Amino acid sequence: MRITLVPGDITTQNVDAVVNAANSSLLGGGGVDGAIHRRGGPAILAECRELRASRYVNGLPTGMAVATTAGELPARWVIHTVGPVFSAGEDRSELLASCYRESLRVADELGAAGVAFPAVSAGVYGWPMDDAARIAVGTVSATATRVSEVRFVLFTADAHAAFDLALSLLDRP
Ligand code: ADP
Repeated sequence: MRITLVPGDITTQNVDAVVNAANSSLLGGGGVDGAIHRRGGPAILAECRELRASRYVNGLPTGMAVATTAGELPARWVIHTVGPVFSAGEDRSELLASCYRESLRVADELGAAGVAFPAVSAGVYGWPMDDAARIAVGTVSATATRVSEVRFVLFTADAHAAFDLALSLLDRP
């Protein structure tokens, strides 16, 4: 698997699937979630409502992932995953790692070869960027998947620097 880092906006990415840092309601929010629904149009939200009414009446649990089509986005699918809110008192890293593993599992089910991820939990959910990057890069590289390109789309220079560092530490023997 090739891991690439690109600066910018995940909604413009021309990949098979983009991952949404959703919340468990699946009904939209700020950050990545707001941007995906704004750009993708109402079709995505309609599918999310359907998922809430059928499979996830209590919301999508933290650490899980589910796909919809991507509306007007260049991607074919949106994979919605719910990151954990950062807690200084409790180690929730496994839940954050689970977001990446579950998203790749869903991507495999879809047959998606290229997947773009944002820095899940590192916005409104408050996860320190360096740690979020380490978990993201470490988990993706250790997951068995048929996905051949994982692209981390980083919205800020800080995020890009953190992912760059995490990737370089990974390569070190
Ligand atoms: P969470 O609620 O999981 O923390 P956010 O969407 O608030 O998710 O933020 C996750 C990360 O995504 C943050 O680093 C934020 O700066 C970044 N981000 C916000 N908008 C976009 C976008 N359009 N494309 C890519 N990354 C984005």
